[in-house]
Amino acid sequence: LQSRLPQVGTTIFTVMSALAQRHDAVNLGQGFPDFGCDPRLIDAVDEAMRAGLNQYPPMTGVPQLREAIASKLQALYGRDYDAGSEITITAGATQAIFTTLLAIVHPGDEVIVLEPCYDSYAPNIEMAGGVVVRVPLTPGTFKPDFERLAAALTPRTRALIINSPHNPSGTVWSAEDMQRLADLLRPTEVMLISDEVYEHMVFDGARHLSAAQWPDLAERAFIVSSFGKTYHVTGWKVGFVAAPAALSLEFRKQHQYNVFTVNTPVQHGLAAFMADPEPYLALSDFYQQKRDLFRAGLARTPFKLLPCEGSYFQCVDYSGLSDLDDQAYCEWLTAELKVAAIPLSAFYAQGTAQRVIRFCFAKKDETLNLALERLGRL
Ligand code: PMP
Ligand code: GLN
Repeated sequence: LQSRLPQVGTTIFTVMSALAQRHDAVNLGQGFPDFGCDPRLIDAVDEAMRAGLNQYPPMTGVPQLREAIASKLQALYGRDYDAGSEITITAGATQAIFTTLLAIVHPGDEVIVLEPCYDSYAPNIEMAGGVVVRVPLTPGTFKPDFERLAAALTPRTRALIINSPHNPSGTVWSAEDMQRLADLLRPTEVMLISDEVYEHMVFDGARHLSAAQWPDLAERAFIVSSFGKTYHVTGWKVGFVAAPAALSLEFRKQHQYNVFTVNTPVQHGLAAFMADPEPYLALSDFYQQKRDLFRAGLARTPFKLLPCEGSYFQCVDYSGLSDLDDQAYCEWLTAELKVAAIPLSAFYAQGTAQRVIRFCFAKKDETLNLALERLGRL
């Protein structure tokens, strides 16, 4: 069979989790919590199942969940999304982003990603028939570089994908960044995919800024988020996309023949659980404590720490420690020190070597302490 994606292998997250298991290493690679979710959420899903809510929900998702999301978007970001025509429930953020691309990309259209970026974006653009245009974030700070972004826009540019808080760097876009993006896109027809899955993990008193808050952006934006991150249930794979009605209509044309709809009882459980905003409002403090614990420990190792303003990822530079490329270094770290991480090159075009690796700190304190003890041998 001639491969449609000849450059693509198995994702680094699968590879490193398998390696971690093989070496009995602490897995700080793939991003997922090693602790449970709120038992009230389990109860809510259980209740929905027992109430017999186990058949297909509407194609666009359970109405109560779409209403709960619309209320939250209004409360936090001040934009009214119509739950009926502008919010669609998806099988995680991954499907939300892929289906958006299928809905908007015509063969040969260019889609800009800001590199480093989440590993599914580029293959998804290609699967949708588009051309990937990689614009580097500012080296070192990972902040958006608007001069380079402006220079990358062409008449073929269909869309831009942004991601704040950022995986892998933990960078968070400022109000000035958002405003500059709005100014840049206003005279264009470029659409925006705003991947906001880490929206509730922003530290040091800062707030997540959503593309929904800038009318010039919101009118052209598909806002994507995922309950997996917010409620510690990455395996449930439920997320959503919020977009103006005309865009949501096109999204749904693809969605109905892509997955049609997603897991009914989980949607009902999430809808009931969302009535209380406390769990997501408390999430930044919860993860800030973990970030601080982890960073304090890493500061005692020879790694050079990069900043972490949000998300549950911490990057470190190991260039003073080893000449191995980052993939080889992660393999060595997993086998020898029994701590798994993700090489940053996984977030770049193939062959872009880095000397930076990413740790996930969405772990019990005891897991983080065990990893730090092992990294203390460096
Ligand atoms: N975007 C980013 C930036 C992510 O980090 C992730 C999860 N690793 C996703 C999208 C995918 O989220 P989901 O598991 O909900 O598909
Ligand atoms: N989003 C998670 C990460 O960045 C992993 C998702 C996956 O395993 N595909 O680590």
